Amino acid sequence: MPNVPWLLDVLRGAGVTVVVEGDWLNRYRPGSFDPIGVLWHHTAATSSASNPHPALNVCINGRSDLAGPLCQALVDYHGVFHLISAGRCNHAGASRGSGPIPAGDGNTLMIGWEIDYNGVNQSMTSAQYNASIAATAAVLTRLGRNSSYARGHRETSTTGKIDPSFIDLDVMRADVAARMSGGGGTWSQIVDNATAGRFTASANWGTSAYSSQRYGTEYRFAEPVAASDPAWFKFNVPTAGNYRVDVWYAANAGYNTAAPYIVATTGGNQTVNVDQRTGGGAWRSIGTFSLPAGDANRVAVSRWTSGTGLVIADAVRLTRL
Ligand SMILES: [Zn+2]
Repeated sequence: MPNVPWLLDVLRGAGVTVVVEGDWLNRYRPGSFDPIGVLWHHTAATSSASNPHPALNVCINGRSDLAGPLCQALVDYHGVFHLISAGRCNHAGASRGSGPIPAGDGNTLMIGWEIDYNGVNQSMTSAQYNASIAATAAVLTRLGRNSSYARGHRETSTTGKIDPSFIDLDVMRADVAARMSGGGGTWSQIVDNATAGRFTASANWGTSAYSSQRYGTEYRFAEPVAASDPAWFKFNVPTAGNYRVDVWYAANAGYNTAAPYIVATTGGNQTVNVDQRTGGGAWRSIGTFSLPAGDANRVAVSRWTSGTGLVIADAVRLTRL
């Protein structure tokens, strides 16, 4: 049954850009479908600006070993939702139980977003993240459930699935909750050291893929020095206001004991020292700051520290509160 015919209106109502893929209302698997939550996936396909949805065809039509449709919607590189099905899909397999989602038939219990990125050396784009938060918040509101009913496939899988990679699911749920409460989460941007046009560092900063805790394919590192040579992350801040700053780095016993993160706030630069020996491989908040509007270098990692060990510059995220 096309049990979620409201999905198109709910997504559009949330401000999500939607492309309807053919006869989505009548494309579904036989069997029961009575969703109580949302399940996040990555497709394992490599997307790009010029090839934004490489897994779309397989998500619609399935594979030789698994009949399509494989998800209710695919989220492309630009954050566009491709609406595939209003009914049951083969995306979840069995659920082992996670949070409030019980053990059982995951395809009955959950609506699935396949977020199109490879999850091996590619993380989800800011556009994919923001659209997924907005869509998940809207669907859970429609279902009358809270943010804990959003899960990652790696949390429910009984077969060792790892998706979605490179994302802290508790932080993602917190952003859904903020969105549902109407407060924060309305704007968020991630800048990685590989984000085109948004990261600058001198040649003194090396490039490494040594730690699997990295965000994306690699990160930058430099020895401490008593001189100004920061790595900058540039953001297009939409409006003046308060923003939470989260940082992501690979942690290692040999990394810096007090890496200075500089935030260029409305009231001048503020510095927060982060011990990069621990707490890596996830978003970590360094506080809330008042920021001016505009597209400018907003957060830096400085090498000028009395801390010891390599200073790491990997990824920074701003979220409007
Ligand atoms: Zn999956």
